[in-house]
Amino acid sequence: MSTQPLDIARANPNAPTITGGVATAPARPSLIGQSKKALVKTLERIGLTNRESRMRASQIYNWLYVRGVTSFDDMTNISKAVRAQLADAFDISRMEIVSEQISTDGTRKWLIRLADGNEVETVFIPEPGRGTLCVSSQVGCTLTCTFCHTGTQRLVRNLTAGEIVGQVLIARDSLGEWPEVNTSLTNQPRTLTNVVMMGMGEPLYNFDNVRDALELVSDGDGLSISKRRITLSTSGVVPEIERCGAEMGVMLAISLHAARDEVRDVLVPINKKYPIKELLRACRHYPGLSNARRITFEYVMLKDINDSNQDARDLVKLLRGIPAKINLIPFNPWPGSDYECSDWDRIEAFADIINNAGYASPVRTPRGRDILAACGQLKSESEKERASVRHARERAEAAQAADMTAADTPA
Ligand code: SAH
Ligand code: SF4
Repeated sequence: MSTQPLDIARANPNAPTITGGVATAPARPSLIGQSKKALVKTLERIGLTNRESRMRASQIYNWLYVRGVTSFDDMTNISKAVRAQLADAFDISRMEIVSEQISTDGTRKWLIRLADGNEVETVFIPEPGRGTLCVSSQVGCTLTCTFCHTGTQRLVRNLTAGEIVGQVLIARDSLGEWPEVNTSLTNQPRTLTNVVMMGMGEPLYNFDNVRDALELVSDGDGLSISKRRITLSTSGVVPEIERCGAEMGVMLAISLHAARDEVRDVLVPINKKYPIKELLRACRHYPGLSNARRITFEYVMLKDINDSNQDARDLVKLLRGIPAKINLIPFNPWPGSDYECSDWDRIEAFADIINNAGYASPVRTPRGRDILAACGQLKSESEKERASVRHARERAEAAQAADMTAADTPA
């Protein structure tokens, strides 16, 4: 099947690209991603008293997440001697930006290199009155949704809390959003107002790190993006959904994409493990669910696959009784994808049925397509070491270890 790009943004060959050098692993542990409580413990470990650690932790936390500084030298309310001690022991620098591209429609995409050389992408989508940052939770994805570019990339690893929150810090840097020192923090205009966990990876398969990162992102003493403005999107990891509401308390989006199991089994293969009925049961019990806090159901529009009027009617029937929003996403093609986006009049007919059933069903305008920044187009070059290569290496290492042990053993 050939792809039919529904391109509204023209390719921009002049999109600025900032190229960086080769990443080197920081020798010192990073403080980014630690809660205030963890910071206190970390400072005690380098010899500060509990009292001083508590005071310094608050100061450092403020510098990192309210002012966005990347050097201990800038922490002017901390004595020079302590700053030097901190700089010796810890790192607070940003992850490396391999490239930053800006689409014709203002969408920005960063390719970020992690300390171990793996790469992830983060996307910022400006809209009138708000700006949404699409954050990655994993390098690659274990799941293999057939219409998703990330799904073709094997999982390399989970991101740490620091690497997740670090994406927000990079976006704030690039958008020039940190307040000047000595300026009041109240009424600072903001461009980055919302965060969606809709980048690379399945956030509920990296639960603890995502939860810890979102705690930092939403903390009123820090980055201060309210949980009402944070949305976590899942392909449907049913056993973690209730915990997500209870422990993270963020808004939930479900990648539904089909109203019948036989179609969803193909598009979102995790459906074979957790079919639609179980998924919707978990949604009905999502903590905090109400008409004011609805679940968003994402539905990618795939030509002749899930876009008939009957599909729309089935969808409406399925969601009956759940406080829901339906988000229709025109399929974003990527090199080698097998699907086509539904025709525009088909999307409109589908949306009409949804709207007539009483749902607000905005069609998500594709953004940043010229820089492959739209939903499902993200893919970094990081690939997991092939299993066969890994097994060979592990065997070799085990053999080597056995060899060394044998050599150490007195005869
Ligand atoms: N893994 C999570 C979050 C990341 S994907 C999840 O699946 O929900 C974010 C959203 O983009 C999901 O709704 C996903 O189904 C959708 N998506 C993936 N590939 C797409 C594509 N090529 N076109 C449009 N939407 C896509
Ligand atoms: Fe993974 Fe989400 Fe893509 Fe599915 S849609 S492969 S869960 S990133």
